[in-house]
Amino acid sequence: MKILLVEDARAIATVMTARLQSFGHEVILAENGKIAVEKYQKANPDLILMDIEMPIMNGFEATNQIREHEATLQWAWTPILFLTASDTSENLITAIEAGADDFLSKTLPEPVLHAKMKAMVRIAALRQKLSAANRKLHELAMRDGLTGLFNRRHMDMLLDAEWKTALQKRSPFGILLLDIDNFKKYNDHYGHQTGDDCLRKVAQALHNATESANSTRLTQGAFTARYGGEEFALVIPNASVDSCESIAGSVLDAVRDLGIPHAKNADWGIVTTSIGCAYLNVASDTIAGIFRTADTCLYRAKNNGRNRVEFG
Ligand SMILES: [Mg+2]
Repeated sequence: MKILLVEDARAIATVMTARLQSFGHEVILAENGKIAVEKYQKANPDLILMDIEMPIMNGFEATNQIREHEATLQWAWTPILFLTASDTSENLITAIEAGADDFLSKTLPEPVLHAKMKAMVRIAALRQKLSAANRKLHELAMRDGLTGLFNRRHMDMLLDAEWKTALQKRSPFGILLLDIDNFKKYNDHYGHQTGDDCLRKVAQALHNATESANSTRLTQGAFTARYGGEEFALVIPNASVDSCESIAGSVLDAVRDLGIPHAKNADWGIVTTSIGCAYLNVASDTIAGIFRTADTCLYRAKNNGRNRVEFG
């Protein structure tokens, strides 16, 4: 474990450090509460052993500040054990009230300290597993299971923030809605398994085109999402009308270039898309309004023969 030891008395700090190191732990020493708060933020320790009486900032105040900092983070809770001169029940109650998880007497026999540290190692391992699992869950909740693109719910959340910023800054805003041409016929002809593969490939092509637009500065912060069954959305904040049209064109090409056979797609013989592109020079009205425009353009692209982009 990485242990932050907060202790102003040099002699006690030296003995504790030597013991903890002999149990195989890494020890970071802080000689008062203020330094402890700083080192906690930098080092992200697995455990904090905190003295109470110290100059500059005492253990109660330092614990308070660490807990306040943790409250701003997700899933953060570092175990804090107070180091006390004696193990009275009054000390225990004070420690817990102050945000500590337990307390240790500084005069604890070495084997007892060793045993307590073993228990803390188990908790630290569990905490690491939990936070990894939580990160994974958080990631999964944002993504569409089939294509790995953002799902509709996450897109709506991101959109809200992007749209607010665009309204405030009076910046441009573009939306592409993309639909795979004759996808029902594709599924009927090739089967749903192949249909799923097709969705994955189109999603990847869309994602790559978006990343390339971001990296070549055609836009900034563009992102893609699976909008519905075979419908995808590309959100393009901060782009000129030319850039937006160029992105739409490159997405259309990227899917064609996949060359996925589609015997039931007019005379083209490959998978193609219809794209509706809505663009505002200056964000205004509502996000629903710009989506309606994109939807109307998509409808027009289909009516005009598919495999094309229509702008509005
Ligand atoms: Mg002290």
